[in-house]
Amino acid sequence: MGMRFGAHVSSSGGISNAIDRGLAIGCESLQVFTHNPRTWAPIRHKDDEIAAFRAKAAEAGMGPLVSHGLYLINLGAPDAEVPTGPPGKPATKTRNIYRFSVESLVQHLEIGERLGLAGVVLHVGSSKGSTYDEAVARIAAGIREALERVPGACQVYLENTAGAGDTIGRSFAQLADVANRVDDDARVGFCLDTQHLFASGYPVHEPDGIDRVLDDFDATVGMHRLRSLHLNDSATAFASNRDRHANIGDGGIGADGMRRILGCPRLQGLPVVLEVPGIDNNGPDTENMERARRFHREGRELRGSQ
Ligand SMILES: [Zn+2]
Ligand SMILES: [Zn+2]
Repeated sequence: MGMRFGAHVSSSGGISNAIDRGLAIGCESLQVFTHNPRTWAPIRHKDDEIAAFRAKAAEAGMGPLVSHGLYLINLGAPDAEVPTGPPGKPATKTRNIYRFSVESLVQHLEIGERLGLAGVVLHVGSSKGSTYDEAVARIAAGIREALERVPGACQVYLENTAGAGDTIGRSFAQLADVANRVDDDARVGFCLDTQHLFASGYPVHEPDGIDRVLDDFDATVGMHRLRSLHLNDSATAFASNRDRHANIGDGGIGADGMRRILGCPRLQGLPVVLEVPGIDNNGPDTENMERARRFHREGRELRGSQ
C-alpha cells in the first residue's frame, strides 16, 4: 500500500493557490493554513476562491486535504480575561484566550467544511498555571463545543507535541486523556509528528523503534484513529523537548530512521505531510518530497526482505 505524500504549503494570495503550489512540488495530499498565522482575525475567503480550491483539488485527485490550526489557539488557557499586549511590551488590554481559542476552532471547522477538508490539526494546548486535570477538562469542553456548533465531516486531529514547557500532548496518555473526555470518536482523530515524537523521547529512529512506539500508541489511543503523519527530521537532540524541524534525512532521525519509519507496515495508507525548512529555507520543496518517496521505497524494501 502506498502513502499519500504531501506538504504544508502557503495559501497566500488566495487559498486555491495552495493547490498549485502543492502540485508544483509533487504533492498528493496537502496541509494549509486557512487563517493568517499571526492574527486571530479570520480571513474572509471568497466563494469563488473556495470553489476554485475544490475544483483544482478534485481535478488533480489531491487528498486528503487538511488545515493546521492557528498557533495562537490554546484551549488549555484559563477561561478568564488576562492582560495582553504586543510581545515584549507592557500589556495594553485584556483578552480571554480560552474563548478566542474556541471561537477560532469554530471558524477553522466552518472553513474546513466549506473547503471540504478532512480535518483540522490542533495543538492540544498548555496548562498555563492551572493543574493538568483542569486544563484537560477545559480543552475537552472547548473541542466538544466547537464540534457541536459545526456539525459535519471535518474532524479535529490532536497532534503530539515536542514536550516544551507545560504543553499537553507530549505523551500518548495525555492525548488519550483529552480524546476520552471529548468522547466523540467519529470526529476526533490524531496526527503524529515524527520530530515531536523524537524530541519528546519516543525512539522512532532506532531499529524496531517505530514498531514499539506504535505498539504503545495502539494500546493507549488506537491505531485506527491515526489520520495523518507529519514527516519531519529533527534539528534538536533526542528527548530534547525542543520543536525544531530539519530537512528529511538531515537531522537526528536521519536516513536510516526515515527508512524505518516510512517502511513501517502500520503507517501505509496514511497521508504524510512534510513541514520542513526546505533546502533553500523556502519550506517544503521537490528535493524533500523526493527524499521522502525514496526513503519510503527503500524502507519498504528493507521490510520486505526481513
Ligand atoms: Zn503542528
Ligand atoms: Zn513542530
